[in-house]
Amino acid sequence: MSILNKGSKLYSIFLNLCPKCHEGKFWKTDNPFKNILLKNSESSISCDKCMIKYELEIGFWYGAMYISYAIGVALMLLLWGGLILCFPLMDITILISLVVVGILIFCPINYHLSRLIWVNIFIKYQGDVN
Ligand SMILES: [Zn+2]
Repeated sequence: MSILNKGSKLYSIFLNLCPKCHEGKFWKTDNPFKNILLKNSESSISCDKCMIKYELEIGFWYGAMYISYAIGVALMLLLWGGLILCFPLMDITILISLVVVGILIFCPINYHLSRLIWVNIFIKYQGDVN
């Protein structure tokens, strides 16, 4: 079975699908830049198909910050390494500025992915619910 087949966690994470049924959407849209503008009460509440409530307990989404932090650090290291390799003589101020700008641009995608990863840790795929 490929890791991107239905039933795998990566399938749910990268296709923005409910972790339990892999049918309904997790985020209302697939566009992270639109999702970040939604209020918490408007986004990722429950699945339209299997009706599971994504927020398992009060404060559940705080845990997604750990994932977000890890993604942010990984991105920072990637940007830093890539820039140092391509422009070894770049001024440190410009280098730091570019890394910060890169992380800020990636923020909505990070937010989008971190909640999907977090919810997939706790909710397992349970096959077709129909
Ligand atoms: Zn579902």
